[in-house]
Amino acid sequence: MTKAVIIEQHGGPEELKLVDVTVGQPGPGEIRIRHKAIGLNFIDVYQRSGVYQLPMPLHLGMEASGIIEAVGEDVTHLKVGDRAAYASQPPGSYCEERVMPAKCVCKLPDAISFETGAAMMLKGLTAQYLLKRTLPQGGLKAGDFILFHAAAGGVGLIACQWAKALGYQLIGTAGSDAKCALAKANGAAHVINYNTEDFLARVKEITGGKGVKVVYDSVGKDTWDKSLDCLAPFGLMASFGNASGAPAPIAPGILGPKGSIYLTRQTLFSHIVTRESTQEMADDLFDAVTSGKVKIHIDQTYPLADIAQAHRDLEARKTTGCTLITL
Ligand code: NDP
Repeated sequence: MTKAVIIEQHGGPEELKLVDVTVGQPGPGEIRIRHKAIGLNFIDVYQRSGVYQLPMPLHLGMEASGIIEAVGEDVTHLKVGDRAAYASQPPGSYCEERVMPAKCVCKLPDAISFETGAAMMLKGLTAQYLLKRTLPQGGLKAGDFILFHAAAGGVGLIACQWAKALGYQLIGTAGSDAKCALAKANGAAHVINYNTEDFLARVKEITGGKGVKVVYDSVGKDTWDKSLDCLAPFGLMASFGNASGAPAPIAPGILGPKGSIYLTRQTLFSHIVTRESTQEMADDLFDAVTSGKVKIHIDQTYPLADIAQAHRDLEARKTTGCTLITL
């Protein structure tokens, strides 16, 4: 038996229940992992609340690290006793131990702690594919301006540091002056408190009226319209979340007068479909962290039994950087 957090219906944090479940043996292509630490992500909130509808009962959680306890047939890249970490599809990381598909699980380098591994996999792989694979026509070059919303959050603080290492001028938005200061200290070239300042006017001012090459927008409804107007001609609107709610549907015709801009909605799980691409992206993330280019900030820690409070704080915008769930 193992402790696991499940929900039986979509709803508020009170739906999160810590229960005892049995853990089976891994089948072909699967592993059993005993967790050392678990990561919290905003997608967990969408899955709990029903923004993303999923079958019930639902085991929540998309990110963790631990030790491989058993390996199914056909799994060649992991063995019993390996240190490992993952960003997973399907969910189910809020537990002590689980059986899961091996293809999304990567060996964790010795230089990276279980805590860092658990906190960074989903958020770090997201920052990786956004900054390295979700690019405007012609790519980005050193000195280019990009706009990154929620820059003091989990994905945001990683992106601030990585963008700086790549030479990009990241303009970060955040919901308080303290969060803006944190984003700046982590490499944002400019910061805007979008609760007190007009971020469109500030972006125009910072870029000398030219606009940015890419907007990375995970806030959604509240930032959508102005974000489109922050783009330079042929710029890219990269939507990857909706923390404030989903934006209204748009007609393609509006993209032309704004400068023939491009629009994409990206999800990590399209990028980590194969073992090869997962490992390639993870290796890049591991290198960014072990080389010191990117530091993983674990700013909040909660025991698994307090998972409901962790959800409340994330939704109430009380957190910064990464949040770790301990066992
Ligand atoms: P964060 O730590 O960034 O937390 C979300 C942040 O969004 C908050 O701290 C808050 O920052 C900001 N925010 C703005 N409006 C709201 C609102 N109405 N309610 C709550 N928060 C709001 O979370 P993560 O790092 O886990 O994820 C960041 C975003 O990226 C999320 O939207 C997530 O869904 C998305 N994501 C998408 C992936 C993909 O592949 N598509 C993969 C991973 C994450 P502030 O107070 O500064 O405004």
